[in-house]
Amino acid sequence: MKSDIQIAQEAKLLKISEVAKTIGLSEDDYEQYGKYKAKVDPNLLRKLENKEDGKLVLVTAITPTPAGEGKSTVSVGLTQALNRLGKKSIAALREPSLGPVFGIKGGATGGGHSQVIPMEDINLHFTGDIHAIGVAHNLVSACIDNHLKFGNTLNIDITKITWKRVMDMNDRSLRNIVIGLGGTANGIPREDSFQITVASEIMAAMCLADSIADLKEKIGEMVFAYSTAGTPLKIKDLNVQGAVAALMKEAIKPNLVQTLENTPVFIHGGPFANIAHGCNSLLATKLALKLSDFAITEAGFAADLGAEKFLDIKCRKGGLTPNCVVVVATVRALKHHGGAKDLSVQDLDALQKGLSNLEKHIENMKKFNLPVVVAMNRFVTDTESEFDLIRKVCSDHNVPVADCDVWANGGAGGEELAKLVIGEIEKGEDNYTPLYSLESSPEEKIEIIAKEIYGADGVVFSPKAKKTIKTIVENGYGELPICVSKTQKSISDNPALLGRPENFTVTVNEIRLSAGAGFLVAMAGNIIDMPGLPKKPSAELIDIDENGKITGLF
Ligand code: ADP
Repeated sequence: MKSDIQIAQEAKLLKISEVAKTIGLSEDDYEQYGKYKAKVDPNLLRKLENKEDGKLVLVTAITPTPAGEGKSTVSVGLTQALNRLGKKSIAALREPSLGPVFGIKGGATGGGHSQVIPMEDINLHFTGDIHAIGVAHNLVSACIDNHLKFGNTLNIDITKITWKRVMDMNDRSLRNIVIGLGGTANGIPREDSFQITVASEIMAAMCLADSIADLKEKIGEMVFAYSTAGTPLKIKDLNVQGAVAALMKEAIKPNLVQTLENTPVFIHGGPFANIAHGCNSLLATKLALKLSDFAITEAGFAADLGAEKFLDIKCRKGGLTPNCVVVVATVRALKHHGGAKDLSVQDLDALQKGLSNLEKHIENMKKFNLPVVVAMNRFVTDTESEFDLIRKVCSDHNVPVADCDVWANGGAGGEELAKLVIGEIEKGEDNYTPLYSLESSPEEKIEIIAKEIYGADGVVFSPKAKKTIKTIVENGYGELPICVSKTQKSISDNPALLGRPENFTVTVNEIRLSAGAGFLVAMAGNIIDMPGLPKKPSAELIDIDENGKITGLF
């Protein structure tokens, strides 16, 4: 069987100018980054202001196994299928961080015959957006320490600096460090830490901004520390928001690339789904909506995390009205939820038990008043009897289900799914409604998510979390939406609870303020924002030959 990179390298790429032409872009609308990548000018949105938006489809998934259940693969396959059916479709997806590329093997550009290319470029540096975010973020860090060195007129409490440094690499040894050692000429000694660049609030803000001016304003509002008197200190207090935004001048422009079937895709922005909202940029989604009939997008992890944040944070902030949700299910993950150990052999009992996970995600998505379509992402080891059990549950819930074979067959394998999605949208019954009202208190909003989406009995707030909520509300941030940070392995906050957990409470031990991006992060569990490498990192498998050909990348 061919690897993803082999399939990708055999593909016949169109010049990006030709791809751009298919969606009506003129040469003034984009800048080429080599032959196969381009950055599209977000000002195009103003030009297209009066053009009607296409339909917006979110691809999400059941609770995954660590390998991922194929959201990117199905998103790419679905957009390829829609184009095959003569519908204009553009996918808007996240751009990969280098951390996972060198860590645990796993692609971020789809898989099999449903991939985005050139995958080597996209996975390695791409157009430099993530580097730009790293430099922009670290400029703030350098200015904070410089401010401390030159008198600290803002009275920054050095024990309450919430702004960490960032690097785009999995490197656990940078999680806790001491800086400023070596005497007064070398700064003020203090404890500091690194997070992976995609966890930077600047990434989250870029993905929710609608222009560079809006991004600059969001950067200015970011709280980097508290003063000794307890007041939040913002980047605009350091007066560097302009310089930080200047470094983001190119990064904010959505990147245009193509699928294996030469259909257009925007790959832009990728906030760390563990502590941020995990969706590609709003600008890319908006462009996809303006330039196509069906914009396909996805959000990190399963529907309890990615879809909920997409629907409660991104859509609300961006004024988006999604029309349909595709829930990707795999036989292997459902068997895992039913307790199976060997996921590659038929196990109908385990599958039957594990189907409760799919049922809960279907019920949850309906709470947003959106039509749901289930995509059974077919693996070669799946059997018809297993698929029949999934079909039965979908029929019980009155939800259409497609046999989705896009990994093996590209767009042709996604036509059934595409037709069902079109059918559901044509019914016109979508009525997107966010789950909670922003005016509710932070505690109430968190409780609504925990009870309605996770199925919890309630929420326990630690004394520390309660204290932070009080400060946050006093400072006028109480009406921000909630971004829950919890395990992706369970619908609950306990990774050991598989299937459809019941009789549990969620514990929120900390609240973090992302004032610039515009949400409150409710930390429910010990979530790491600087991953480590596994014992045998995939860095050991990646290579390049004398012709510049890369191998071993998935
Ligand atoms: P997600 O977006 O949910 O994390 P991906 O689409 O990135 O998942 O897929 C994760 C991995 O699984 C990729 O390496 C992809 O090639 C592989 N994969 C996805 N679907 C299939 C399938 N049907 N058969 C075999 N491998 C698959």
